[in-house]
Amino acid sequence: MKRNPLLIANWKMNHGINETRMFFEQFLSNFYSLQISGEVMIAPAFTSLQTAIEFCSENPLIISQNVSAYEEGAYTGEISVEMLKKIGIAGVILGHSERRSLFAETDSMIEKKLNRVLSQNLLPILCVGESAEERENSMLTEVLRRQIGVCSHFSADKLINLVIAYEPVWAIGANQPASIEEITSAHSEIRLILNEFLGENVADSIRILYGGSVKPENMAKIFAISDVDGALVGGASLKANSFLSLCKLLQKQG
Ligand code: PEP
Repeated sequence: MKRNPLLIANWKMNHGINETRMFFEQFLSNFYSLQISGEVMIAPAFTSLQTAIEFCSENPLIISQNVSAYEEGAYTGEISVEMLKKIGIAGVILGHSERRSLFAETDSMIEKKLNRVLSQNLLPILCVGESAEERENSMLTEVLRRQIGVCSHFSADKLINLVIAYEPVWAIGANQPASIEEITSAHSEIRLILNEFLGENVADSIRILYGGSVKPENMAKIFAISDVDGALVGGASLKANSFLSLCKLLQKQG
């Protein structure tokens, strides 16, 4: 099945309003002249979302790095899906490994967040991936089954637009991405798990992105893997020129 390629920038806790403005001024002047085949999304920090939306509401789409598991009320410091939707946010990254490891996000919290995101028809981008220790103990399949297992509690037709980002924790912010063999095998494993939980039709429609030290110089090889539908990029998405180089790989051929 042909899936629409997708490139996501995750800015993490970088770029305040001024840097966001500067990024878009540089980025958009070149981006619109590229003939992109696929989608590009950018996830700024909460305080920069509104600025980003003012620059580009539809292309690239602006998404959030996180959201509350709750609807509204006495949840100090939280931002709801409804609040994000009202300012024009298109999707939400869920379960990034930094949220899991530094902020103790569990699969059951991620499932609640997924439920909230689906309730407002925003696009969920679910991050999965094994830690260095889990990799050493050959636990990849077990970890993927548990993390993707949150999807098994929803009816498959609700998850037709789900995006999975496979991000081996040990490859995030590292010198090198995972090897082509490792990415190939993890992505086919994920497709099998999705098949089992959601059935072949929905599993086939779900885009699986790779994330972990993707850079302009290594993305072409990763993108050539048949089950890689795009990338989630941290460090190399912060500078307009570097992210533009990655976007160029989505240019229409011929
Ligand atoms: C990430 O934070 O999701 C990520 C993939 O970061 P980096 O590209 O910097 O490894």
